[in-house]
Amino acid sequence: MNSKASPIEKIQREVVVIGGGPAGLAAAIAAREAGCKEVLLVERDRILGGILNQCIHDGFGLHAFKEALSGPEYADRYIRRLPGAGVEVMDNTIVLSLSSDRVLEVSARGALRHVEAGAVILAMGCRERTRGAISIPGHRPAGVYTAGAAQNLINLENIMVGRRACILGSGDIGLIMARRLTLEGARVEAVFEILPYSSGLPRNIQQCLNDYNIPLFLNTTVTDIIGKGRLEAIRVAQVDGDRVPIPETERLVPCDTLLLSVGLIPENELTVQAGVAMDPVTGGALVDDTFMTGVPGIFACGNVLHVHDLADWVSVEAEEAGRFAAAYVQERREEPRRRTPVRAGEGVRYVLPQTISGERDFILSLRVTAPWRDRTVVIRDGGGREIRRKKMMRLHPAEMIRIPVKKGAGADGSPLEVSVE
Ligand SMILES: Cc1cc2nc3c(=O)[nH]c(=O)nc-3n(C[C@H](O)[C@H](O)[C@H](O)COP(=O)(O)OP(=O)(O)OC[C@H]3O[C@@H](n4cnc5c(N)ncnc54)[C@H](O)[C@@H]3O)c2cc1C
Repeated sequence: MNSKASPIEKIQREVVVIGGGPAGLAAAIAAREAGCKEVLLVERDRILGGILNQCIHDGFGLHAFKEALSGPEYADRYIRRLPGAGVEVMDNTIVLSLSSDRVLEVSARGALRHVEAGAVILAMGCRERTRGAISIPGHRPAGVYTAGAAQNLINLENIMVGRRACILGSGDIGLIMARRLTLEGARVEAVFEILPYSSGLPRNIQQCLNDYNIPLFLNTTVTDIIGKGRLEAIRVAQVDGDRVPIPETERLVPCDTLLLSVGLIPENELTVQAGVAMDPVTGGALVDDTFMTGVPGIFACGNVLHVHDLADWVSVEAEEAGRFAAAYVQERREEPRRRTPVRAGEGVRYVLPQTISGERDFILSLRVTAPWRDRTVVIRDGGGREIRRKKMMRLHPAEMIRIPVKKGAGADGSPLEVSVE
């Protein structure tokens, strides 16, 4: 045993950002531009950009840059700004733990360090749900991948995953991979979705399925996986109103590849470790209108906070979080803020932020529970008084709705409720 183990190096930084995807990049630049001198960005991968590095399709940046960029091009717009902005980057470095008093334990190439932060911005993104999470019975053959894992193999490692594929789940990653596999010469038999509607963006249904004649079967799920060495077939069945498979509708679909696109889980192990209160619906932290969690000085943004539909909104939200984290460090405002609750009412799955101060304008983000046409999103205060309404021709659970709200709302402390009428 080495009795002369070197002591763990300790460093201090004003703001530490965990994660170098679009959220972390935008937050770090914004915190630096807001006047923080020491902004450290920590990324466990060897390159920055997060999940965007494997998204070689276009469609990024339509809002932020009014251009259709690929994922790597979009990330590059921010990565290029880091040196000029003076952001310090530690790549190949993983944050192993985070305490409520903002001490991070990081491991860089085998060496441990403790970083004491004035403020921490959580930007760790999310991971995919796997077969285990949805408990599909059957064999365990090769050929069953999450859609993101297949995307990584094809786009970054140049490894083709199969020739005859089925996709379970119509989330955006599954839709994008249906097109990708087709372009790479595979035959995509179908996409199966257990819900009565697609969980992907309408534009992806058109551009990734309809344009390539790939059928989408709603109210349908995989009931069996068949194949000992390699996948040989799957059994699918329609489901009833309680999402229970109807045996008479079961049929066999031969295929050598099954991609799962069945949801994303925010990567919140560090968040929970730091004692941050969580929202059971989003799977992310509860935050106020400055993106600060319930633990003072710890902020959250991007997919670790709630799963976004577009990277552009991730960047916008993260810039705000970066500015507020910088203000927290500069003002050292420790007194408790007013926290008026904002609640999801009829037809609304979740709202964010979950508390507001009434002191500033903010953007209310929300998702609805089902697809509708010609409805109105209404925000009311505790006395039933209308604060804001937005008429919408089309609402869809796959699309995040963003509504600007003026300061003063919730200033009297009475909870706001958001509903679809
Ligand atoms: C397949 C796919 C296709 C998509 N297509 C589109 C599209 O066409 N248009 C669009 O606008 N959006 C699209 N999106 C959505 C968009 O990519 C995401 O919303 C966005 O990447 C989320 O950014 P993020 O920074 O929150 O997370 P991520 O991009 O996931 O970045 C998180 C980063 O944190 C790092 N990290 C995590 N834990 C630690 C730790 N402990 N220590 C250090 N680093 C850590 C990770 O390595 C990662 O780099 C797509 C997403 C996917 C998955």
